[in-house]
This record gives sequence, structure tokens and C-alpha cells, in this order.
Amino acid sequence: MKNIEFSSKNGVFDMNSFICECDAAVSGEPLPEPPETEQPAAAAQPVVLPPAPVPVADGTDPIVYHPLEEVLCDLRMGKLILMTDDPHRENEADLVCAGQFATPQNINFMATHARGLICVPMAPEKVDGLGLPMQAHHNTEKLHTAFTVSVDAREGTTTGISAFERSVTTMKLADPKATLDDFVQPGHCFPLRAVEGGVIRRAGHTEGTVDMLRIAGLEPVGVCCEIMKEDGTMARLGELGAFQRKFGLKACSLAQIIEHRQHTEKLIVKEEVVKLPTDYGDFMCHSYHSKVDGQTHLALVHGELNTEQPVLCRVHSECLTGDVFGSRRCDCGSQLHTAMRRIAQEGGILLYLRQEGRGIGLSAKLHAYKLQEQGMDTVDANIRLGFAPDLRDYGVGAQILRDLGVQKLRLLTNNPKKIVGLAGHGLEVVEQMPISIPAHADNKHYLDTKRDRMGHLI
Ligand SMILES: [Zn+2]
Repeated sequence: MKNIEFSSKNGVFDMNSFICECDAAVSGEPLPEPPETEQPAAAAQPVVLPPAPVPVADGTDPIVYHPLEEVLCDLRMGKLILMTDDPHRENEADLVCAGQFATPQNINFMATHARGLICVPMAPEKVDGLGLPMQAHHNTEKLHTAFTVSVDAREGTTTGISAFERSVTTMKLADPKATLDDFVQPGHCFPLRAVEGGVIRRAGHTEGTVDMLRIAGLEPVGVCCEIMKEDGTMARLGELGAFQRKFGLKACSLAQIIEHRQHTEKLIVKEEVVKLPTDYGDFMCHSYHSKVDGQTHLALVHGELNTEQPVLCRVHSECLTGDVFGSRRCDCGSQLHTAMRRIAQEGGILLYLRQEGRGIGLSAKLHAYKLQEQGMDTVDANIRLGFAPDLRDYGVGAQILRDLGVQKLRLLTNNPKKIVGLAGHGLEVVEQMPISIPAHADNKHYLDTKRDRMGHLI
């Protein structure tokens, strides 16, 4: 338990644990450069949209990415491909191939040229179907890499370690007819259990491999191996161009797979529509269940939507302390209620996304608060806790808005990255209108950080 002084509009409370960290951006993007000059607070100028986000590979010789369809084609032909994760995460590329094509040649290539740990990412239903137990009951690894017990095929192996024998074991793992009796434990192949929901829930190579194989129409059991340089350190994304060219490898990023799934799958389900009279006006409350995070998100609609015209809209991320208690550590509560008042006057949508504390959750937000009390700013506090500056992702929000028929938006926001996130999902933001909230002593530092380090137009 932590004691954090909690200053509220209604007085100062000493609360026994909580946090807040609000407005921001698209998963994994680098922070934008701070604006040159302070923007005028109430200017309702249309903004020029920045280009859609592309995979980032800092360095002198970066990987070249290919359209997903070309990469899928190579997987179906049994070839190896490169798959990169986010620069904020491992910042690594793995060699990947389908488990059903885990030939001795492919395994030998990985062992010779990639030289990392050769693992076997498997769909959760495949691991459960085989009844493979997890290696650690309580996973304490930093990225929660989900190793099962290691295995060798019972038939066709001696020591299990040669490329030929690892090929036998991996192909057996990919065999839909295999049972637990076909394996001995421990062994020399390392199955990994992908998270239910895949890259949408966890952007790791395990999930990326399984998702790509599913999209390719192959068995969702693959092989992956990290790439280690000759000096024994791990190769980073920006230095793998020569490796890629030498072996003629196609490459994709986890971001491409996420984007593909967001565009081809419906990740939200409308559950209920009810009347919601409020102090600000009458709304219709549409609730949506998200398969991405299992949360119920709300769209409060005021008036009849004319979707032929741009719709006034606020995309608001939950901030319990700001929205409910009127915390003055941030400006969320004021922004929410200013937006509700305006939408009730003009008609439009308040989209309320349940992603507390920039997606890090309430508990972690409170830990970040504590670090801020010890002198860190909001961005550094999140980094110290092991998170990218912002984990939120507006794919779900964009799907809800599209489900409501919205095509064009007039967006109430101070956050330019929110626009990039929505624009990448088939919504056109024709206007950005900042919400001007006067700063006060309790949140001045927080607002300065949002302006100077996260590019907010405050
Ligand atoms: Zn807040």
C-alpha cells in the first residue's frame, strides 16, 4: 500500500493507494518532437495530418519491409521470413517459418546464421490440446515469454539436438494428429504458448508467428529464432539490412500484423443501447465489448447523428481519479465534462475508452504517481516502470466510431497523436479543436510535460 497525497477540487484527501496518467497516443510510436512554440489554446484551426505511422528501424542499415501478402506467400512456400517487434520492446528481428515446413535445412539455417534460441510458438489451443504443461507455474520473466516444458519426439530421435532431430520434433508438434504420448520431456525443442487473441493482446514474436500462420491458412505452430551478431550481442533492427539482402529474406513487423487484423476483423461487439440523461444533457449510451482487452467501452451519443457530415467527437480515456474524483493532478475531469457540455449543445459523440492511465492500469498509474512525487515527470515515470511512453491504441475506438456510422470527425482533443491513431483506421479527421483548460498549481508540471514531451497542443 502507498500513501499518496491526493488533492481534489473538493479538498485534500490522503488516499491509501491509487494513480493517474492520462491523454495520449498510438501503441509503440516514438514521441514526437516538442512543438517549436506554444500553440494558442483556443485556436480551432484544421490541422494537416502527419503521414500514417510506419515501422521504425533506427540505424545505418535498416530492414526493408514488404507487403504482408508477399511475406505470407513465402511462409506458404516453406521459406524463412524476418519478423520484427517494436523498437520500444525487444527491438529485435526473429527468423520465422511454419512448423509444418521446419525442415532440417530451415532448422540448420537458424542454428547457423541466426544463432539465437530456436523456439516453437504454438496457438494456445494446440498447447492445451496436447496437454503440454508450462515450464514455470508463476512466470516472472520480464516479457512473460510463455515457455512450456521442453520436448523431443519419442520416435525418430536419439539425443534430439541435431537439426534433423529438432526438425522431426517440430514437425510432430505441428501435426494435428499428435498426442502428448508422441513426446518425451524434457527435450531440445522449446514450445511457446501464444496468448489468446494473438498480437492484438500481446505484441510478441510468439503471437506474431502464430497469427501469420493462421492468416496464411497454415497450422498455427511455427518456428522462430532471434538473430545474434558475430560478437555475441543481439542484432538490432537498424543493422539487419545486410543480413536480409544476403539471404533474400522478406520481412514484416508486428505492427503490420496488428494493422492487418484491425482492418480485417471486427474486434468489438455492440451489447446494449440505453438512455442516459446527465447533468449536461440527454445521451444514448451504446456499450461495446472489446475482444482486444475484454473491456466494455461506452459511446455517449447526443442527438441524431448525421453521418454525411463531420461528427463532433471526443475520444476520452478513462482516468478514475480525474473523471470521478476531480483530481487536480491532471486535467482529465475538466476535459471530460467540458467535452460533454459541448457535445450536449451541438450534438455528437463522447467515446469513453476504459484504458486507465495510458493503458498501464490503475495500480501502475499510482506507482507512476509515486515516482513523480519523487521528482520524475510522467513520461520518465512510465519508462522507469518498464512501459513505453504510451500503450494506448485507438483501433478499438475507431471501430466503435465506424460501427456508429461515422466517417468524418471534428475531434475535441489537445493530442495530435490521437489524430494519427484514428486516421490510420479509415476515419477522416477534418478538424481538431483543442479543449482549453486553465492550468493550476497542482497540474502545471503535468500539463507542461504533456506539451513539451508528448506534443500536446495545450
Ligand atoms: Zn487523468
